[in-house]
Amino acid sequence: MLNAGVGAVPSSSHYRRPVPDAQENPTERHPIALRSGPATRPTTSDVPLGPLNAAQRAVLAAAETALLDERRLLGSGELHALAALPDGAVSSLAALAHQVRLSWCGPSVEIEGILSAKTGGCPEDCHFCSQSARFGSSVKATPFLDTTEVLKAARETASLGASEFCIVLAVRGPDDRLLARILELVPLVQRETGLNVAVSAGILNNDQARELAQSGVHRYNHNLETARSFFPSVVTTHRWEERVETCRLVRRHGMELCCGALLGMGESDAQRVELLVELQEVDPTEVPVNFLNPRPGTPLGDRPVVAAWEALRWIALFRLALPGVILRYAGGREVTLRDLQAMGMAAGMNALIVGNYLTTLGRSASDDLRMLEDLRMPVSALTGTL
Ligand code: SF4
Repeated sequence: MLNAGVGAVPSSSHYRRPVPDAQENPTERHPIALRSGPATRPTTSDVPLGPLNAAQRAVLAAAETALLDERRLLGSGELHALAALPDGAVSSLAALAHQVRLSWCGPSVEIEGILSAKTGGCPEDCHFCSQSARFGSSVKATPFLDTTEVLKAARETASLGASEFCIVLAVRGPDDRLLARILELVPLVQRETGLNVAVSAGILNNDQARELAQSGVHRYNHNLETARSFFPSVVTTHRWEERVETCRLVRRHGMELCCGALLGMGESDAQRVELLVELQEVDPTEVPVNFLNPRPGTPLGDRPVVAAWEALRWIALFRLALPGVILRYAGGREVTLRDLQAMGMAAGMNALIVGNYLTTLGRSASDDLRMLEDLRMPVSALTGTL
């Protein structure tokens, strides 16, 4: 089901958010940020940034014209050209992405809180997820939280100025009992808090999608996670195409689609561009961007974290590929970007998750709110009408 987005929560369709486990501070395991995955560009963490040549500046100028003047989406070739620019281009990519975000979406930032309402014990084998029952990770399976706990978390989310609250379940998909609980909670949370309610509960069938829409679910999270060509390397218990089908059902029944990615699992730059094109085709309202926070005991537990500069490049590329979406900071931003989190916001992001993290890693909501204030980014609800 999830995979974190709604801040890295669970995932088969989820936000991926770190869950509490024995790893108190992954940065201690990775004192030096390393690039993730094979790349066609030289690794950069130890190479000084240099100026761009005329051909490289022309690639940036062409993207600017397409997005700000022609107001069209970039194609695969243009995205590959941007992805191949040297690290000296990252600040220019970020500056262009920020302008594209302002032009296509406006200045506002959306805040969301997420709650893992049913944690662990998932039968799927997503190699990045500590909530899979198949791995030796230390996340304990817990039953669905009771209504009081869910409402308490939602009220705390509302008190932070958030407009969206996502209920996340670590499941392949909802069975009848879980679906009934969700259908009961969604209108209750909406009525009691005034928040838009999102859900992340894995793979849906047509009837389940219809019932969720009818119950008032505002947005449904189901991440693609990674490119179709790389997906079988990290998940074997369900297919990438099943995720796409759930995404289609979400849109068909009138819910906003939240469909994101997890970077840093070993995918190549070309596969990241492939994913961007696939996301253009799925056409989500929101795209949460997660960075792998390697969980002990999972098959990807020893992967290096994505380097901060590399993360900035891909945040900018996500905005340039998907100019009109709500682009949300999700799981892993603290360990990946560290002190550069504000730069990420200025590289095309216009949403983030605060509060209610089931993690020991996230920084405080007040730090995030102060960052937005310093960046002169007003907080408000965003919708698919951007
Ligand atoms: S193992 Fe389960 S909870 Fe984890 S990402 Fe996969 S489907 Fe979601």
